[in-house]
Amino acid sequence: MRALLLAALFFVATAVFGIARAGSQFESAAWQEACELSRYSCRSIKPPVVEYDETARMTGLLGYYLLGTRVVFLAVGLKPHAEYAVLVHEMVHYLQYVHAKYDPSVKLEKCFMESEAFSVSDQVAKRLGVPEMIRDGNLLDYGC
Ligand SMILES: [Zn+2]
Repeated sequence: MRALLLAALFFVATAVFGIARAGSQFESAAWQEACELSRYSCRSIKPPVVEYDETARMTGLLGYYLLGTRVVFLAVGLKPHAEYAVLVHEMVHYLQYVHAKYDPSVKLEKCFMESEAFSVSDQVAKRLGVPEMIRDGNLLDYGC
């Protein structure tokens, strides 16, 4: 009975707070989707490592890719579908870096990078029913 209760509590905590979800299935599904929808080749590219940033939300960030690394960060506390859409978005940024398609130091290119990443994560967010994640071309915050 106690084990069942603990399991139930863990499930609720996982569903509500997004704890312990950086598992291989979650990440590999997001990686596959980032590759397919962005149309970047992922052949012989290692997927990024996913880590959680406990302070990200204080600065309003839901996730970010640490430029030049293999690490994407997710904010702690996102709901599962939102977390998944953010993860796909940040994985597209990782792919942009690996393929050296853009120069992020150029403001206009940063706009292109965000447009591309949001075009992918918007598709995911729409499918999963996460309306607050959908930008639909509204990229004013990103210098567009
Ligand atoms: Zn972005």
